Amino acid sequence: MANICESLEGLEEYDNYIERMREDEYPTLKDALYLDHAGTTSYSKRLMDRFHTDMMANLFGNPHSASPSSQRSTLEVDSVRMQLLHLFKADLEYFDLVFTSNATAAIKLVMEAFREQEGGFWYRYHVDSHTSLVGVRECAKEHRCFESDEEVEVWLNNESAEAANGVSLFAYPAQSNMNGRRLPLKWCESLRRTPQRRAYSLLDAAAYASTTSLDLGDASVAPDFTALSLTKIFGFPDLGALIVRKDAAHVFQKRKYFGGGTVDMVVCVKEQWHAKKSGPLHELLEDGTLPIHSIVALRSALQTHRELFGTLDQVSKHTAALAKQLYTALVSLRHANDTHVCAIYASGGSSYGDSTIQGPIVAFNLRDNRGNWVSNTEVEKLASIKNVHLRTGGVCNPGGVAQSLDLAPWEMRENFSAGHRCGGENDILNGKPTGVIRVSLGAMSTRSDVARFLAFVDEFFVDKTLHPPELWLSPSKSLSQRFHVESLTVYPVKSCGRWQIPHAMPWEIRNEGLAWDREWCIVHQGTAKALSQKQHPRMALIRPTLDFKAGMLRISVPGTSEQIAVPLSADPTPFDEDAFSQRDATVCGDPIRARLYTSPAIANFLSSAIGVPCTLARFPAASGNFSSTRHSKAHLPQAKSTPGTIQRPILLSNESPILTISRSSLNRLNEQIKSQGGRAAHPSVFRANIVLAESSLLPPGHEQPWAEDEWESMRIGGQDGPTLEFLGGCRRCQMVCIDQVSGEKNQEPFLTLAKTRRFGGRVLFGVHTALVAEKGGRTMIRSGDVVETVARLDE
Ligand SMILES: *Cc1c(COP(=O)(O)O)cnc(C)c1O
Repeated sequence: MANICESLEGLEEYDNYIERMREDEYPTLKDALYLDHAGTTSYSKRLMDRFHTDMMANLFGNPHSASPSSQRSTLEVDSVRMQLLHLFKADLEYFDLVFTSNATAAIKLVMEAFREQEGGFWYRYHVDSHTSLVGVRECAKEHRCFESDEEVEVWLNNESAEAANGVSLFAYPAQSNMNGRRLPLKWCESLRRTPQRRAYSLLDAAAYASTTSLDLGDASVAPDFTALSLTKIFGFPDLGALIVRKDAAHVFQKRKYFGGGTVDMVVCVKEQWHAKKSGPLHELLEDGTLPIHSIVALRSALQTHRELFGTLDQVSKHTAALAKQLYTALVSLRHANDTHVCAIYASGGSSYGDSTIQGPIVAFNLRDNRGNWVSNTEVEKLASIKNVHLRTGGVCNPGGVAQSLDLAPWEMRENFSAGHRCGGENDILNGKPTGVIRVSLGAMSTRSDVARFLAFVDEFFVDKTLHPPELWLSPSKSLSQRFHVESLTVYPVKSCGRWQIPHAMPWEIRNEGLAWDREWCIVHQGTAKALSQKQHPRMALIRPTLDFKAGMLRISVPGTSEQIAVPLSADPTPFDEDAFSQRDATVCGDPIRARLYTSPAIANFLSSAIGVPCTLARFPAASGNFSSTRHSKAHLPQAKSTPGTIQRPILLSNESPILTISRSSLNRLNEQIKSQGGRAAHPSVFRANIVLAESSLLPPGHEQPWAEDEWESMRIGGQDGPTLEFLGGCRRCQMVCIDQVSGEKNQEPFLTLAKTRRFGGRVLFGVHTALVAEKGGRTMIRSGDVVETVARLDE
């Protein structure tokens, strides 16, 4: 196939071409909106076909021998090495290329060489560096982080040779992997102007080279060391490379380690000496067997990339135009009250479109119409439901993120000790976001991708009304008897199917929840982590039954006749000593001492039902001397029983013993879903314990949806019934989209909830509830009981 794209002149024509080509060549991107090309880009069908054909047609041996198959491999490796150098216009006379497993390994090779230098080395790096560059500092004698380009310039222009008694290494990214800013390539040349400094340059081109051409044509101005990710350019194979300027190759002479492939002779019994390879540099640095099949794939990758995209310059122009379009639209987005939706982290708005200073990445955060930050966890939840692939968080760029978000070191430390880790749930601390949203474009991105992303932001994050979300406002602190208990449900095994308590059967309610709720869990046999339905939707299909007659918990899975059963009795030791093994496990990150059932039949049954090696465990008895009653039930802190202190309309407790939902609210939600053509949500998806309902005789429109937002407490079953307090709204995630009958994932009801029930960046449905632990009155409730609710007073 000819290079069709090379004849395409205009940007629009090129974009149309990519759009059409992608349909055949990138089947994996068909429905996905893939916007994480800075993480890795995608590979084409043609590349995979070509690689496959190559592998089937040729016998490739280990390059270190003399057989024909070995010779073929050697030839192949040398030829691909040349082709790659050629791609970067690097002359073989001045440069060598070393294959590595990724860009980080290329950086480490350089670090190791400098670590061996006599007297150690001075290290300087730019604040926009990727974590992999930052880590080099740990091996340096002294290090300094330049906080701006100006600091670098000042240092470069200061002719004094401060590191006269040692060597120094200056590293920076050609492009920030956080916001795509491109840094001056001329710094490498400036550094070389004062040779008495003995300073070397390490350019991290992993992000840069993926969407633009890197030109090493003039060796005198080129970096000494250039780290590359070939994966980020081609999508496949998984390889990196280090390009070394031969003038700087001598730093590797101090390298002590040798491995197979990097020595000519080794003596190791009576005498101990070895002769290092004296050939080209790459032979000295490529330890062990080369990843030859990956290198073979690289040949196909080079050819295919040329055929599908033309030159990297074309890719650069195309992606720069897309990024400009994306940036321009995001900056101008406004809520109905005219406040900005996006805070974008870029050095200067006008840089988008100019590929010398800006690559195709946009880093930003979202605000709601009152100026509050939208949690990135929330963005990720919606993105994952909408099949949008983006990256959030610290994106492996600690300096860039801290600077953009204006986080001081003490704040980062405080965030860390407050439990924030890369990828954690609490991503807004002290009113500041702790990470960014990163959208990155690649060679096969198109205008329609940009448009689809903008529509996504517009749909979920742009407020079109001037009003806050609907809240039911009670006229005053009021007692109401409108509701009754419609149904009671327990989840005997955490994250698995429900067991509905038979109608009107009296059921005990305790401080830690309804009796038999979350008494068991399923733990991974390898990691001892309690499994959750969020990762394993098939857990919804595991159906526990409480059989009080036989005193057993039975577990079945639809579609099979098999069943397992364990005694309900918490302490079966008199009957079977070996039923359990004690093991340290974790539930939602918190350690517990769980009792794992040892029976292979139980483990096999659950492992095949869920598809991961796992088994059943029982939480320690709540009454035991185990400190963690917290995990005896619904893994929750004991409810703080301080009625009257709950004043805010919505308290944001994450977990609680009992979850209550209102049928009236569900009806309202379902009306909204249906009005948009969606499918109504079944109450089971909310995994509530108590469903409250109003009289079925109420005429339409007379229900009180969202009344629970205003409730302070409720008494169930009249006069001497137990009183329960409400701790706040229940924060929802995409788990409400798992059909509890089929285990399938849908988009609703989370989409509509996210649009209608978002408060301060949290999507709420249902209320956390706890027994008020005081009097020793009746603690039995049943479905059909009347419910008296107390609404809190508006201040
Ligand atoms: C991705 C990236 C790296 C790390 O590359 P790996 O191949 O994952 O080791 C380093 N620096 C920058 C700028 C990157 O974008």
